[in-house]
Amino acid sequence: MGSSKLRSSKIISFTLSEDQRIYLPIGIALLGLNLIIIGHFLFEVHADVIRLTGVIVSLLFIILRVFVVFFSFPLKNHYPAVNWLNSIVSAILISVITYLDLKEMINITLVLLAITLVADTLTSGHGPAYLFLLLVSIARFAILEPQPVVRSLSTWILASSLPIAGVVFIETIRIMRQTITKEVVRLKTINMVAQSFSTSLETDQVVALISSAIQQALKADTYYVAFVEGEDLHFELVYDEGVFFPTQKVPITNTLAGYVIKTGKPLLFNNLSKDCQKLGIPFSVIGQPKVSHSWMGIPLMAKQEAIGLVAIASYKLNEFSQQDLEMMQSLALQASLAIDNARHHNEVKQQSRQDSLTLTLNHGSFIADLEDEIAAAKSNAQTVALIMLDIDYFKIYNDTWGHLVGDKVLFELSTILSSHVKKTDLVGRWGGEEFAIALQNANIEQATAVAERIRNSMQEVKICYGEGNYVPIPTISQGIAILPEEADDAFSLIDLADKRLYKAKQKGRNQIENSGFFLFHK
Ligand code: GH3
Ligand code: MG
Ligand code: MG
Repeated sequence: MGSSKLRSSKIISFTLSEDQRIYLPIGIALLGLNLIIIGHFLFEVHADVIRLTGVIVSLLFIILRVFVVFFSFPLKNHYPAVNWLNSIVSAILISVITYLDLKEMINITLVLLAITLVADTLTSGHGPAYLFLLLVSIARFAILEPQPVVRSLSTWILASSLPIAGVVFIETIRIMRQTITKEVVRLKTINMVAQSFSTSLETDQVVALISSAIQQALKADTYYVAFVEGEDLHFELVYDEGVFFPTQKVPITNTLAGYVIKTGKPLLFNNLSKDCQKLGIPFSVIGQPKVSHSWMGIPLMAKQEAIGLVAIASYKLNEFSQQDLEMMQSLALQASLAIDNARHHNEVKQQSRQDSLTLTLNHGSFIADLEDEIAAAKSNAQTVALIMLDIDYFKIYNDTWGHLVGDKVLFELSTILSSHVKKTDLVGRWGGEEFAIALQNANIEQATAVAERIRNSMQEVKICYGEGNYVPIPTISQGIAILPEEADDAFSLIDLADKRLYKAKQKGRNQIENSGFFLFHK
């Protein structure tokens, strides 16, 4: 999956100028050493052939290094073979210099060799560096003891010290690079996710981003994101070994997650069962029935309060480091801000859809939702019942009892409407003292029964007026129409229900008008 791509990318690759900057002190040292070697061959070696060969080989070495910096660096990412070739040629040249004057040059060639090894490990990677080390070690071993007779122990020690030191060099640099790479991946992940967080206006989006960040930056077998809902923890996302599990709710108390929520502090356990025992918390299993051994829990905070947590676990012991926890803390901090932002955004969005007095849907949102509901009903071959409702003689009522009492009546009525319908049904303020109710998949009998219950409940409302006095409650009239039997779109459904409401008014008010179905006879 996408996660391993970033994690397993072998090494961070340096840019050309970074490579050249890294190489600068090494290059200067190599140039200096080669100039000393050339001087040595020119002035201290007397045999012409050796002198000439020594100078030529040292010059070639300088030329090779210049070529490496200015020509091979730009090519090496395109042609990795350049790195291998460079190692082979360097090894041959250094071996020739060693061979020409081993006695005098033993130390200087060793330094030359060490610096070349460091340079190639840094810029070419460990593969070519190991090849270079292997070649020079063999050559040096052969030069040190050219006779293939029984070699003395001191020769073995001397010969093996080079490869041992070389391996230590290469491996140290390799581990350092891996550590830097891990850190870079962490920072890149945080940066990338932080940028996306700032544009996420939905909690779902933020949760999805947390999920992808965990997959990219950590070796997690399982993780979840959960939010506090009263006394419970609602698991928004549960991932376990490649599988996403359905959301679920569990009580907060006496869980590890609950501990993180309660304290508002992150936890890092690398031996879960023992650490849980220490805290006195039984550990429960979420996702697959398998026990995790490493666990990190990071709270999601809003205004100093834990609103949820991100928990990450592994089936292996000692899987997470302090750095992993720090990365997750920084991610959680940004996620918390984004979630808080998303919640505010949702609140504002919700408010913009509502009527401020009755908290039912406003006119525009009711129509938009009704159209969606009708479309869904049509594709599922279901019905939609629409009730249009109007308070009787409300103008006179207001004039008699005042607008504040009138407002209370409107609020009480909206509470009754919402409590008599299912969560999936729609209640909207059509305007003034008129409301509209859309019942999902209800037939005429069911819709009339709901309307009748609303009418009765309305008569039971009590509104205080002065001390111990109650105002009389106005009656309501309702018109009902059904889709698809009587109408085939939102417009004709509303129109028909409205006409029936008008008819109910004409017939004397305080009644329900439908297609002729009578549920209650009074
Ligand atoms: P009918 O039985 O024919 O419906 O008579 P009505 O008086 O209810 O009808 P009309 O449309 O003449 O008057 C509606 C009244 O609803 C007018 C206004 O005072 C009242 N009203 C509308 N919106 C509000 C509101 O937000 N608060 C209060 N208190 N009254 C409102
Ligand atoms: Mg009215
Ligand atoms: Mg009216």
